[in-house]
Amino acid sequence: MSISPELAPLAAAAPPRDPDRALLDALFLGPYGENDTMLEKLVTEFLRDHVYWRRNFHPEDPPAISTRAAQHPDYQAFEARLRGELHQLSAALKRSVPFHSPRYIGHMASDLLLPGLAAQILTLPYNPNNVSEDAAPVTIDLEIRAGLQLARMLGYPDDPARADCAFGHLTSGGTVANYQALRLALALKAFPVALRAAAVPDLDLPADDWAAFNTGPRAATGLVERWQVWLASQPPRERRRWREAVQAQRIESLGMVGFFARHPELRVPKVLAPITAHYSWSKGLKLLGLGRDQLELLPERGMRLDAEALERTLQRCERERQPVLMAVAVLGTTEYGTVDPVDAVVAARERALARGLGFSVHVDGAWGGYLATLFREEDGSLRDIDAVRADYASFPLPEVHAAFAALGDTDSITVDPHKLGYLPYGAGAFVCRDHRAVALLAETADYVFQDSGTADYMTRYRQLGQFVPEGSKSGAAAAAVYVTHKVLPLDHAHFGRLPRQTVLAAEAFHARAARLATELEGVARVAVPFVPDSNLVCLAINPAGNTGLSAANAFVRRIHDELRCDPRQPLQLKQFFGSSTTLRPEAVGETEMRRILASIGIDPATLDPDGGHDDDRLVILRHTLMNPYLIDHTNGRSYIDLYLQHLGARIRSLLTPQ
Ligand SMILES: *Cc1c(COP(=O)(O)O)cnc(C)c1O
Repeated sequence: MSISPELAPLAAAAPPRDPDRALLDALFLGPYGENDTMLEKLVTEFLRDHVYWRRNFHPEDPPAISTRAAQHPDYQAFEARLRGELHQLSAALKRSVPFHSPRYIGHMASDLLLPGLAAQILTLPYNPNNVSEDAAPVTIDLEIRAGLQLARMLGYPDDPARADCAFGHLTSGGTVANYQALRLALALKAFPVALRAAAVPDLDLPADDWAAFNTGPRAATGLVERWQVWLASQPPRERRRWREAVQAQRIESLGMVGFFARHPELRVPKVLAPITAHYSWSKGLKLLGLGRDQLELLPERGMRLDAEALERTLQRCERERQPVLMAVAVLGTTEYGTVDPVDAVVAARERALARGLGFSVHVDGAWGGYLATLFREEDGSLRDIDAVRADYASFPLPEVHAAFAALGDTDSITVDPHKLGYLPYGAGAFVCRDHRAVALLAETADYVFQDSGTADYMTRYRQLGQFVPEGSKSGAAAAAVYVTHKVLPLDHAHFGRLPRQTVLAAEAFHARAARLATELEGVARVAVPFVPDSNLVCLAINPAGNTGLSAANAFVRRIHDELRCDPRQPLQLKQFFGSSTTLRPEAVGETEMRRILASIGIDPATLDPDGGHDDDRLVILRHTLMNPYLIDHTNGRSYIDLYLQHLGARIRSLLTPQ
């Protein structure tokens, strides 16, 4: 097979070297495994170091495995079997998805940061379990500190000496972080009701159940604090009695059925999320027993959560005495990378609270959380929009800057270190603005309620298993996250240089796609359906002359089939990897949908809301531009150019009669 001319290096057009390049060159194993020596040296050095640690524990203990053990036939047979299996595994893994390659622009995965990979491999043989300090004396601190590092990136208070310091912990992923957000919001919402039901004196409690259930997260956190102080002031016997009395009234003790039976004027609260929300929200409502019906999906306008629809829904809930648990804003949607107006959601929360409807605001930043580094100065303050803008052609839109600027006013945030943090699975994170609320999640009420006055922040969270959804959990993952954030602090001058590349890549893609549209005139209509908010770029394609939705969808499906992973074929037969998604009028709004269809010459009348298969939506290509080497400065190659050339050639060959 000859190398096609489109893949020959474009050496003549080498762009000037990017000032960030020297740093970026050191961060990853690299598409070609260029930094293999560094990784190999680190892994061997610290594996040896681990072995010395074992030997130096009690050097007087003689080796338990004899030096002759390796000569035994059973030993050798075992080793042979092990090697055989590992060879098979290693061979099979060659069919894995090449996330590391700049030819992979499909889903939300890319190369792994060396600091994280090295820290994780280094820590694995120590096998710390971050469920509690007894099993992880070192890495549990690193997890709590990683939570504080993320809190600072997001604009939450990160000084543990402050009473209202934030708290964050790791989870297996964004899904479980979202569960934790639901759990904390529900605990905070129902706690004031429990205090009233137990008739705790002296706390200046809300007048009725409705008011108590609508205290809102800030005031409810204040109540948790006042309750703990009051409890500590009671004589030991009384303290115990009151603790049990309140515990018996909590939703966590009674369950949904028991709690709402005792408070007939209250209803199971709703979660309001944009229609683009990840399916973990549906799973979470089922898991918590709130029920999927309590998830109310709000429409979008201009590819973002429609703030007016949120306001209308809140007013309707208020009229119907329908409580709201939380409003979710998505920071970087999974399908489109779009950013919801976090600022508008926060403002809606304040207005509703003033009218007596309290709820939490959670940001699902599983994808876009790390983009906050672009907006963070080294001293932790917010970068103003002009400073950020200087680096790009048009990023960030004012709406996007405003959304990131408002993160500090939200109640909790999900971020995935295993997505834009470039760390191995599973590393998600949950961060809440004020750690005092977390006392409500403690599995043993005694533990927090007794020690809260005395235990300092770092000590309290060393029993992490008390507060998190999981039990046993990886200390190695915590080490990876912490070390990465230490080596690359979470501000624009350090870690931010990495997401900066991804946004620049998206801008380059967007510009090059416009050229492709011109090149394909008369063959196909190609459009970027909406201006990217971050680093995902979609493409809508329609064969020239076609006006029907289903033919356009069939064509894009056909192209996508060539771009998707196919385990039956050798990997090398694929030139590029991409993904696809769909646009539906319910999700993007009628006006937006018409505009997008018109941009590629599709008659909106052919969109059939009741039609089967794809007829109610437009199929588009989706590209996640997170690989740091999409623009190869060493060889003057742009994989974005190469991809769009390839795509153009495929479209042409499928559409022009041979
Ligand atoms: C990926 C993603 C999730 C789920 O995270 P996992 O780490 O896959 O569990 C949730 N929300 C958004 C917006 C995501 O992009």
